Amino acid sequence: MTHRGGRRQDEGSRGEGRRDEVRRDEGARDEGRRDEVRQERRRLADDVSPDETPPDDALAAGWAALVETARRTVRDGLVVGTSGNVSVRVGELVLVTPTGVPCDRLGADDLLAVDLGGRRVRGTLAPTSELPLHLALHRHTPARAVVHTHAVHATAVSTLVAELPPVHYLAAVLGGPPRVARYARYGSPELARNVLAALAGRTGCLLANHGAVTYGDTLDQAYDRTAQLEWMCRVWLAAASVPGRAPALLTPDQLAEAADAYQDYGQDNGRDSGRPE
Ligand SMILES: [Zn+2]
Repeated sequence: MTHRGGRRQDEGSRGEGRRDEVRRDEGARDEGRRDEVRQERRRLADDVSPDETPPDDALAAGWAALVETARRTVRDGLVVGTSGNVSVRVGELVLVTPTGVPCDRLGADDLLAVDLGGRRVRGTLAPTSELPLHLALHRHTPARAVVHTHAVHATAVSTLVAELPPVHYLAAVLGGPPRVARYARYGSPELARNVLAALAGRTGCLLANHGAVTYGDTLDQAYDRTAQLEWMCRVWLAAASVPGRAPALLTPDQLAEAADAYQDYGQDNGRDSGRPE
C-alpha cells in the first residue's frame, strides 16, 4: 500500500511537473509569438536608418504586405474597383498604391516608393491621387501605415453628421468617436489638412461625402481599424434607422473608461490587432 501510495505520489508529482512544463512551454510559445510580432513590426521600418535607403528586401517585403492589404480591402467589400489606397513606411520612404491600377493586377515589379516630400524614388507608375493625404499622415502623425477607403457605411455616415455618435465602446480603438473631416476636393492639400484636423487624438476619421481613413503601427492594425470603423458606422445607421427610436449613446465617462481598459488590454497581452473583445 505504502509502495503504491508512494508511486501514486511520484506519478502525481511527475504529472504536476509535466503540467508545469506544459505551462512553461505555452508561456514561452506565447512570448515567442509576441516577439515575432514585435520583430515583424520593426523589420519593415525601424531597423532601417533614416539616412539610408532601405534595403531592397525590406522594400519588397513591405510592398508584398501592402498589396495583400489592398486586396483584402476589396475582398472584404470595403473598396470597389480602384477607389481605395494604402501606404506603409519603410525607413524614410513611403510605399503607396498607384493610381488607376486594380490591386489584383499589382505584382512585385510594380513596387512604387516616394520620399516624404512626395518625390518618386522607386517604380514607374503614378502614385494614388490621394498621395497628399497619405504623406500628411506619415509626416504629422505616428502613422506607419495608412488605409483609405470609400466603404459604404462610412461614406453614408459622412453625409449625415459631423461626428459618429458613440453607439459602441469600440470607438476607444480609434481614440474616441470618429469625426468627419470637412469636405474638400479629393487629392487636394486642403483635404489633407482637413483630415489632419479631424484626426487630432484619433487614429481614424471619416471624410465628408467621400469615405474614411485610418492609420496604425502596421498595415494589419490600420486595416483592422478601418474594418472596425466601417462596422461602427453600420451599427449606428442600423440603429438610427428604426422609426420613432433614437440609439442610446455612451457618455464621455463610459468612453473614457473603455479607453483606459483598452490601454491596459494592449499592454497585457501584447497583441497587435489592438481589438478589445
Ligand atoms: Zn478617396
